[in-house]
Amino acid sequence: MKKVGIVGAGLGGLVTAALLAKRGNQVVVMERAPIPGGRSHVVSKNGFTMSYGAHAVLAPKQEPMRSIIRELELPMEYRKASLAKFKLLKEGKVISSPLGFGALTSPAISGLFNHVKCLKQFYEMVKQAPTFPESLTVGQWIRDNISNPEIAKVLSAYASLSVYDGALDLYSMNRFVELTAREYEKNEPLSYMGYDILLRELQKAITNNGGTIQFGKPVSDLIVEADRVKGVVCAGERIEFDEVVLNVPPKELGKLLSYPSLADEFGEYVNQTAHYVYIYDLMLSKRIRGDIGNLLDLDGGFYINDYGINNPSAAPAGGQLINGLKFLTEQEQQDDSHAKGSQAAFEALLHRVYPGWEQYVVHKRMINRAMVGGIARRTTAKLLPLQSRTVRGLYLVGDATVGSGALGMPCYDSARKVADMIS
Ligand SMILES: Cc1cc2nc3c(=O)[nH]c(=O)nc-3n(C[C@H](O)[C@H](O)[C@H](O)COP(=O)(O)OP(=O)(O)OC[C@H]3O[C@@H](n4cnc5c(N)ncnc54)[C@H](O)[C@@H]3O)c2cc1C
Repeated sequence: MKKVGIVGAGLGGLVTAALLAKRGNQVVVMERAPIPGGRSHVVSKNGFTMSYGAHAVLAPKQEPMRSIIRELELPMEYRKASLAKFKLLKEGKVISSPLGFGALTSPAISGLFNHVKCLKQFYEMVKQAPTFPESLTVGQWIRDNISNPEIAKVLSAYASLSVYDGALDLYSMNRFVELTAREYEKNEPLSYMGYDILLRELQKAITNNGGTIQFGKPVSDLIVEADRVKGVVCAGERIEFDEVVLNVPPKELGKLLSYPSLADEFGEYVNQTAHYVYIYDLMLSKRIRGDIGNLLDLDGGFYINDYGINNPSAAPAGGQLINGLKFLTEQEQQDDSHAKGSQAAFEALLHRVYPGWEQYVVHKRMINRAMVGGIARRTTAKLLPLQSRTVRGLYLVGDATVGSGALGMPCYDSARKVADMIS
């Protein structure tokens, strides 16, 4: 039995802690915020349960999620997004997607020949064995292989669901295929699990197995002696541990690297740029329409997820929870000056798709730039190793570690790997 200190109660930290506690280790999670979840935290208001981001739990029936749920005996349910309710917006009109029932008739593509071509190119894009050159990005693949601009637009929009638009030119084609092929094989490209339930059950799995989670406890330093970690400084107090697991994003990590070899080992990673998206969430007291589960706006780059449909426990009966996300351009990611324009564009989109929405607003939430670090599956990304090479007993988990998949998946993957290393 080891005494393990875990810094950060994000998905990576909570999964690591739950697995280690279940396997008989003594775990202490130290979280600087008053709530768990980090970039997957959940806000509850007026009967609505709103995730910080879009939060489709990608590939919940695939590894590593499947075996984590099984080992921890989590009572999780997931639901597939209905392809019939997956729509596109083109020139202000809601239309069917060529992926689902509109395969041969969707107005997003003109002509039967092009529909067949679109389907063929879509399957080429997600099914091809991942043996592309390491530097080939999704954006480049689309430019090289798809000459029809309508098809290119639709396929870029689908690809951006896993990668985010601004990152199509940063994201490696190999990684993309590894992720999406597995999802499409099971016909579950968009699946939803309630993050509120996942967070609650992970916390239970920790505390029921003797672990503790402390909130409002920032860790300000690591205690390292003779290249071995000995503990942490938490809220001004020195706490000794046999092993320490860090689940903190790059900027925070930089503050914990006073030990010289660590600054060298992780310096390049800490300085890499983050990736951002724009978020606009709306809680409505009345459901305005129920025929859209997910909407991709081909013109404005917005993505709408009707949370109440995809995850019914998220909205009270009769209400509607709309989660809007905008894929920011490279320039928009640099600063917040796009925010006013983005808000106006999103509200114009709402007027078209959900007319009368403003009469029913219970609560609005906007984030100009939400950090989506996990899409750092970039060809040039400096992903963290899972275990420090220079300081023994120090591990890293989270979405910016070397883990398979995208977005939240590397959190689960790295958490399970680190739990295996320690136990
Ligand atoms: C808008 C948006 C949409 C998203 N959509 C999806 C999606 O649909 N599907 C999906 O799979 N993923 C999605 N993601 C990605 C997913 O949210 C992240 O990959 C995941 O939450 C990252 O978890 P983490 O454990 O790596 O880090 P974090 O969530 O960043 O956790 C780090 C934790 O460490 C704490 N901390 C930091 N410094 C200290 C310190 N010094 N001491 C103590 N505690 C500290 C922080 O408070 C935080 O709680 C989305 C993200 C965003 C922002």
